[in-house]
Amino acid sequence: MLSIRNLSKTYANGVKALVDVSLDIPNGMFGLLGPNGAGKSSLMRTIATLQEPDQGSIHFGGLDVLKEKDALRRQLGYLPQDFGVYPKVTALDLLDHFATLKGLTVRKERKETVEALLRQVNLWEARHQKLGTFSGGMRQRFGIAQALIGDPKLLIVDEPTAGLDPEERNRFLNLLAEIGEQVVVILSTHIVEDVTDLCQRMAVISKGRLLFTGEPGEALEAMQNRVWRRRVAKAELAEHQARHMVLSTRLVGGQPEIHVYSETQPEAGFEAVTPGLEDVYFLQLRRAVA
Ligand code: ADP
Repeated sequence: MLSIRNLSKTYANGVKALVDVSLDIPNGMFGLLGPNGAGKSSLMRTIATLQEPDQGSIHFGGLDVLKEKDALRRQLGYLPQDFGVYPKVTALDLLDHFATLKGLTVRKERKETVEALLRQVNLWEARHQKLGTFSGGMRQRFGIAQALIGDPKLLIVDEPTAGLDPEERNRFLNLLAEIGEQVVVILSTHIVEDVTDLCQRMAVISKGRLLFTGEPGEALEAMQNRVWRRRVAKAELAEHQARHMVLSTRLVGGQPEIHVYSETQPEAGFEAVTPGLEDVYFLQLRRAVA
């Protein structure tokens, strides 16, 4: 279990990236959802001991993370948002290099670890390929392989599915789900479906503040019978936005369809829909600005 208490961080330029965030993250897959600039990376980097908060504490098992940084790092796997690879090196060679850096200095043991990881992330066949030839999905799976060196108990992956095509994304999420059975996995994302598909627990953050934490199912339950849908004319959109709590607008066959949050039917023409996690997410964001 990871316990975060009253974490705050203001950058030198005055941006409040984290504002009094408290959060408990148990074993399994945890989705940290928020728009760009919400503070997700700041939180991930702080947990990964790569930057200091101004205030607050983080405990992982018996460890005081902010005081026992080296001990945390030995249990940590981290896939940063901007994970870069050397394009001219093969997957096998670079993973071997990372394993050496992580302290696997015994050759036989390192070889076994590297080979097992390449198989686990389904890159065995591609092990002699240069990383520069990898697709986005292959690169991210390589990123997971390097994060898993040394059997981490805490795995942090920051926006890993951005830019992946649907098939690569599925493959990647399935891989994470398998890993999530044994360790704490924190997945930060701005893509609602990543959380819907994968996470037993979630949090929503925006502008550095925690807006919601709990089980996706609970959040959906709380919105039952409160989400309404209607096709509207483009010219009426602004009027609806002024009159109702519009959660989202999307085009269906070129015509706007709005989702509205309301305890009762807003007016004739609206039909009730089964809420999706996207509705939960947009309601939290709307409430935060209200
Ligand atoms: P997210 O990962 O959710 O996109 P970030 O944690 O990267 O959010 O950023 C949160 C806010 O802090 C943003 O407004 C961002 O511009 C700002 N920020 C991030 N890193 C720094 C930094 N090193 N110095 C100043 N501002 C930063």
